[in-house]
Amino acid sequence: MKRKLTIALVAHDQRKADMVEWALFNAPMLSQHNIVGTGTTGNLIKKAFEERGLNLNIRCMHSGPLGGDAEIAAMVVRHEIDLAVFLIDDLNPQPHEADIQMLLRQCRIHNVPIACNRYSADLMITSTLWDDETYVPQEPKYVHFER
Ligand code: PGA
Repeated sequence: MKRKLTIALVAHDQRKADMVEWALFNAPMLSQHNIVGTGTTGNLIKKAFEERGLNLNIRCMHSGPLGGDAEIAAMVVRHEIDLAVFLIDDLNPQPHEADIQMLLRQCRIHNVPIACNRYSADLMITSTLWDDETYVPQEPKYVHFER
C-alpha cells in the first residue's frame, strides 16, 4: 500500500491478546503506517514489537476508561483517522460504555471504516481501494422515510 494511513487500535482487556496477535500478524503492513492506540492496548503492542525488533510508529493516548476512546473519537471527528480496529469485549460490561458507543457512533457518522473483529480488520487493511484514486467513498445519507 502506497498511501500512509493513520490507524487506531483499541482492545478491551479480554481482547488484548487477540489484538497483539493481530498486530504482529500484520506487522509488515502496520509498520508502513501511523498507529494510534488507547493507553494499555498501545503500550502492549509497542512492547510486543520492541521485543521482536519490529519497527512501529505508535502514539499511545490515555487508557480507554480514562478517556482514550474519547480522544480517538475526537480524532475521528477531525478526520485524523483512516481506519479503526476496535476489539470489543461483548461478554463483559465496561465502565466506559458511553465512550465506546461514542467512538462507534462517530466512526459511523464520519464514514471511518471500523473493524470489530480480526477478520474484518484483515479484509480492510488489505483492501486495494486505499490506493485507488478513482474510488470515492460514499458518505452516509440520512433521508427522511415516509411510511
Ligand atoms: P486500554 O483501553 O487500551 O487503555 O485498555 C481500551 C478500552 O478499554 O477502551
